[in-house]
Amino acid sequence: MTEEYVRRTAVTRLSVSDEQRALLEATIDAYRDGCQMAADMAWPNTKSKSDVQPLAYDTIREETELGSQHAILATHQAAEAITGCYERRSKGLKTSKPRFTAPTVTYDTRTMTLFENNAVSLATVDGRVRCSLVLPQDDDGYQWQFLNDERWELTESTLTARDGAYYLHMGFRRFRTEQEREADKETAEDGTVLGVDLGVNNLAVTSTGLFISGGELTHWQNEYEKRRGSLQQTGTRWAHEAMQRVGRKEETRFTILLHEASNAILAEARENGCTHIAFEELTDIRERLPWATWQHRWAFRKLYEFVSYKAVEDGISVRQIPPNYTSQQCSHTDCGFTHEDNRDGGSFECLKCGYSVHADYNAAKNIAVKYAKKLRRSHKSSDGGVSVDIPLNSGSLIVEGPGTVVPG
Ligand SMILES: [Zn+2]
Repeated sequence: MTEEYVRRTAVTRLSVSDEQRALLEATIDAYRDGCQMAADMAWPNTKSKSDVQPLAYDTIREETELGSQHAILATHQAAEAITGCYERRSKGLKTSKPRFTAPTVTYDTRTMTLFENNAVSLATVDGRVRCSLVLPQDDDGYQWQFLNDERWELTESTLTARDGAYYLHMGFRRFRTEQEREADKETAEDGTVLGVDLGVNNLAVTSTGLFISGGELTHWQNEYEKRRGSLQQTGTRWAHEAMQRVGRKEETRFTILLHEASNAILAEARENGCTHIAFEELTDIRERLPWATWQHRWAFRKLYEFVSYKAVEDGISVRQIPPNYTSQQCSHTDCGFTHEDNRDGGSFECLKCGYSVHADYNAAKNIAVKYAKKLRRSHKSSDGGVSVDIPLNSGSLIVEGPGTVVPG
């Protein structure tokens, strides 16, 4: 199943005036409302775009300031979210009505125009705004390869508000070349997977044995809580503002840290020739890591985001997989025994085969193996001799066929 197009995303910040900011903010709010209205009306019985659109379109136009095309896009977004719920349910996972809380709005080629001089015009709730893209000055910016090459065509984009700034995730596609099609036939099934486990003591651990400590994150979080405690006792307006400043400083500090962590993970992937990086799904992290604070959950999301947009340059694809006991299962070759008592805090010792290893490393291996099996299954139709490789810190695992893992 070779796709006809190659698809890539280029992320860039927008230069926005105060007036434009107000309009974009209002558009994001209206879009979020529109998506929620469509989901409220369609859930749980309607899931296809062609059904949700006629069901919710008029209401969205009446109740929000969205233009006609954005109203349509909102119905489609709700339909996609509901379809996602159906898929989760079919895998036996819990689902509930989609809730739209993210500060984002979708643009297609009818609501957004990209100009030659690297400016965009964006539809808002009140006419269009024209903003410049804030791009790297030199040729290093990976965004240029899409902007300066007319083979790449703009598709759907997403505008996101974050920390008071606006980011555009521009979707591009181009036709797959004849050579790429040929190369795909030979190598599409082969892949090399890096698994990443996220946690509190260790922020991230890879299946190759790279450990990124969560200590600094916890330290800064504790400092913040301490500071907040004493400021709250003061109770003044000044104290409130000081607290917000501490929060912002903390966030900047974390963000730098997370950039470094994402660079380390990507370097690890490149060194091991990885084509894929697999994380656990972030949506259920609250249930899986009940002791993770909101700062941790925020850090996990950011780290995933940084890794996924930086990986684009290296042609590495980044995915999330459903967890399914990755921390309780034995990752030793041919064992796979799953029991909650296998794990005791930071250490893992299999009750069946006695395999003993760091618990987070065990989980990272399982994540890589699960994703490798998934990749292998998705190419089952082609001839049998394909493999998905998982580099480990001692040797390598190769997933040969569905369900079997043999040492490399
Ligand atoms: Zn075992």
